Amino acid sequence: MATAATFNLTEIAPGIHFHQGRQVGLDSPERDDIANIGFIIGERCVAVIDTGGSIATGRKLRNALRSVTRKPVCYVVNTHVHYDHLLGNDAFASNDTQIVGHRRLPAAVANNRTFFLASFAKELDHHKQPAVIHEPDVTVEGTRILDLGNRKIRLDAHVTSHTDNDLTVFDLNTNTLWASDLLFTQRIPVLNGSINGWIEETRKLAVSRVDRIIPGHGAIPGDWHAAVRAQIRYLVSLRNEIRQIIRKGGFLEDALISTGHGEKQHWLLFDQNHKRNVSRAFAELEWE
Ligand SMILES: [Zn+2]
Repeated sequence: MATAATFNLTEIAPGIHFHQGRQVGLDSPERDDIANIGFIIGERCVAVIDTGGSIATGRKLRNALRSVTRKPVCYVVNTHVHYDHLLGNDAFASNDTQIVGHRRLPAAVANNRTFFLASFAKELDHHKQPAVIHEPDVTVEGTRILDLGNRKIRLDAHVTSHTDNDLTVFDLNTNTLWASDLLFTQRIPVLNGSINGWIEETRKLAVSRVDRIIPGHGAIPGDWHAAVRAQIRYLVSLRNEIRQIIRKGGFLEDALISTGHGEKQHWLLFDQNHKRNVSRAFAELEWE
């Protein structure tokens, strides 16, 4: 049963336990629990998928995991470099646990280390030394299968889309895709990688033959096709509006004011994030 004691975990398919992050912004005291995280249990061991935005959140996930199973955690999969998905890694640090990420994740963690330490000291238990930001032990280029014991999960490293280090997890037993931040539902998608790449990757999701998709933020959609279409609609309209402005000789300032009006009503935290998306996309599209 999903209770606070079990970190509101829900078993959304046999052996797949899911914790939904909160729909709050980065200025919230609860910002360390905004990502969807969880784990997949095989016959031999467990793979944790993302660890939350603080060591405390990672510990809550670990404790909840221990109330479900005594099997060892053989893998922690970090789906990408954003703080809300990996600052909890230290809660799972053990010689028996390998951290797995995209081949570009080590560089991304290295590039963000100073930023994490400065901006997330509280989330990182600043009294604890040495600093506890873990880089992956194993990296994935292309595809890699992990065997949890009579349960295989496939990791796919993606082209630059949400970030330049997005990794998804596909559970072969239940035909479930843990898309993490390749898919946002309810909460506005946040672009840090490439708008062209992300549209391409979301369109690939649209034609996949999976039974369910777990997004990185927002509820698991009852109709995942509709959720994927909504994200394509937002990203494509953002791209079209910006391209039009660029074609007319307009500037970023114009795009910040005049884009997104048709989308605002559809997304949580729109005002906090849309303009950053515009800046990012504009910088990419003005060189086309
Ligand atoms: Zn993210």
